[in-house]
Amino acid sequence: MIIAAILLRPKNPFKVPYSMVVTDSSGVLLSAHIAKDGQWRFMESDSVPYKFKKCIICYEDKRFYYHPGVDIFSLVRAAYHDIKNGKIVSGGSTLTMQTIRLSRNQDRTFTEKFIEIFLALRLELGFSKEEILTMYASHAPFGGNTVGLETASQRYFSRPASTLSWAEAAMLAVLPNNPALIHLSRNREKLLTKRNALLDKLLEEKIIDKETCELSKDEPIPEKPLPYPELAPHLLARISLDKKNTSNIVKTTLDGKLQRQVINILNRHIQNLRISGINNGAVLVLDVKTGNVLSYVGNSKAVDNQDDANDVDVINSVRSTGSVLKPFLYCAMLSEGEILPKTLVADIPMQISGYMPKNYRLTYDGAVSADKALARSLNIPAVKMLQQYGGEKFISVLNKLKISSVNKPADYYGLSLILGGCEASLWQLCGAYASMARCLYNYVKNENKYDENGFFQPNFYYGKKYKNLGFKNSNFLSAGAIYLTLKALTQVERPEEEQSHEMFSSDMVVAWKTGTSFGFRDAWAIGVTGNYVVGVWTGNADGEGRPDLVGIKASAPILFDVIKILPKDNKTFPVPYDDLMKVNVCKNSGYLAGQNCGEIIQELVPWTQSSSKLCPYCRLVQLDVTENFRVTSDCEAVENIVNKKWFVLPPAMEFYYKKHNPDYKILPPLRNDCKNDNQDLPLQIIYPDNGAKVFLPKGFSGEIQPMVIEAACRRNNGKLFWHLDDKYIGQTLGQHSISVLPQKGKHVILITDEDGNTFRRSFEIIDR
Ligand SMILES: [Zn+2]
Repeated sequence: MIIAAILLRPKNPFKVPYSMVVTDSSGVLLSAHIAKDGQWRFMESDSVPYKFKKCIICYEDKRFYYHPGVDIFSLVRAAYHDIKNGKIVSGGSTLTMQTIRLSRNQDRTFTEKFIEIFLALRLELGFSKEEILTMYASHAPFGGNTVGLETASQRYFSRPASTLSWAEAAMLAVLPNNPALIHLSRNREKLLTKRNALLDKLLEEKIIDKETCELSKDEPIPEKPLPYPELAPHLLARISLDKKNTSNIVKTTLDGKLQRQVINILNRHIQNLRISGINNGAVLVLDVKTGNVLSYVGNSKAVDNQDDANDVDVINSVRSTGSVLKPFLYCAMLSEGEILPKTLVADIPMQISGYMPKNYRLTYDGAVSADKALARSLNIPAVKMLQQYGGEKFISVLNKLKISSVNKPADYYGLSLILGGCEASLWQLCGAYASMARCLYNYVKNENKYDENGFFQPNFYYGKKYKNLGFKNSNFLSAGAIYLTLKALTQVERPEEEQSHEMFSSDMVVAWKTGTSFGFRDAWAIGVTGNYVVGVWTGNADGEGRPDLVGIKASAPILFDVIKILPKDNKTFPVPYDDLMKVNVCKNSGYLAGQNCGEIIQELVPWTQSSSKLCPYCRLVQLDVTENFRVTSDCEAVENIVNKKWFVLPPAMEFYYKKHNPDYKILPPLRNDCKNDNQDLPLQIIYPDNGAKVFLPKGFSGEIQPMVIEAACRRNNGKLFWHLDDKYIGQTLGQHSISVLPQKGKHVILITDEDGNTFRRSFEIIDR
């Protein structure tokens, strides 16, 4: 008997394909794929919502809870009618039998009916009434290719079945009985009559009261079936490809309302950007604390008759990063005491592996504080900083930030790594910014401890939680450094156009960074507020560059429009006081103040910075009584020497720095009767670097372009004499640059000033 029961124990009779369905965090449908058999069939839910359950039982099978799968009374009555007519006319089928019929999809014959009866009895042995009802509701036809209650609820009411009113549940309950006959447009009256009859029956059965019944009857039936929403097609495609996901109905962390708004903002902007030939865009919004995705717009909307690759999910595609990695370098260097926020970094012409990186505005500041260089996104200081920090170390930082696509050795990227010479996705980048901000929050919240695994990629699966593996005392990015990085990013320069104030204003504190890749192919803008990270990419999915494709022009306005619709948090970033300390800093250089620094200011720096480098630029100089000339103890009596603290930059930095900083005082010249004490370089070659390999490009008509050698001389209006390979080639006054056209091979440039000081540099002209 037991063996027989086991053998006879039925399985779920439905072997059908289901639609892949993605909902937001409250269960509202965002996007769905049609099932493989061409039906819209959402997977079985756990249970049938109360109102529909009452309606369907009342309409189809009143004794559902009391019969064993077959209702003898109605079966006998139906059989009598059927035999009289010689064919199957009236059902007499219980919901259990109908469930079996839905699973078999056979012609209605007497034999089939007996099989149904047998299988229905067996189904009741293996499943509870609730389970059977759920099977029925999930596979019942609701007209056209709409199968199942959830599907129908979305199709007719755009809402989950659990939110249906009595009138709506009643309308859906009368549909499966004859979905072909009753149709929203063709037989509206009939549908309405049937629905109201069911509502009356519910009143009769005391399931609803009179008032509910009357009000429900007043509810109109929907005009027409609605198209299934397509609010997250790229996320749907991404989830479909995720082998770890086993469910066909995926509840995500998205906020459906926000998703709609973000789609509108993006499409509106892309519509305008199309004029400039920019056809695609993507936006990702994350919750900082959980890392959860709130909005996922993988691409802008397709425009009729245009193939702009709108199906490409740009959020998950790797693209050249432009400047958006710069904050991570700044933060890592602050964490390790390699810089302080105001430390001066050189901003002078330089070349790396044969090419000269340029600042976006094509000017040089000579020297600029690290925080300003970051806020202004200057390229040369970033390259100089990476040179100091080391490529291999920086790649390891990026990997710890879960930017795993930067996975080649440092030599492969060279120093252009920091300028977009590598690729990452909006997904990884937003995840890294969110992790950084989260780390700061958790540090303050968890009494100055870091989460063991606080840096992770974003998540869109609802209910998935990251395990906290405990706490640690230090982290590769310190809380103080993260705080100062976000602070520097709140000072990002807005574009100078008139309307920009409006466009880039926000009630919230926003730390943000833009980026533009080589050849204007990718424009990025990523912003961090108290609670959110918003990432925007614009460009062409096929990779074509456009001159207007600049992060600040194309993507930043979208960023700020999205930030405007986010719930206001009005929060500044939490200050990790225990990871910060006040130190004395040289006002001129931004380094820790040494004994020769003149003006000293107090500044908040990461706690680790106490062992940082002292100011290398201030020194004590010896002047004569007029203070117009430098002297030494060899040429001036000690009692006549005036000692003064002086801020002196190397000549190449000074050359540009003094143009932008009128307060900068040039070191007075050495008095003629004094010998150079060799304490400072009187002159310096700015370009090329020593040992540089230089490639001379060709102009439009094929002629080789000359090379411009630049030098700086500390003395105002000083004269310099130039020699190339021991041959005199000319002299310069004030502005020191000279054009030469050397042959392929090694060369030496030598300059001499009027005092006989010389400076020599070798370089090589190469073919490409
Ligand atoms: Zn100093």
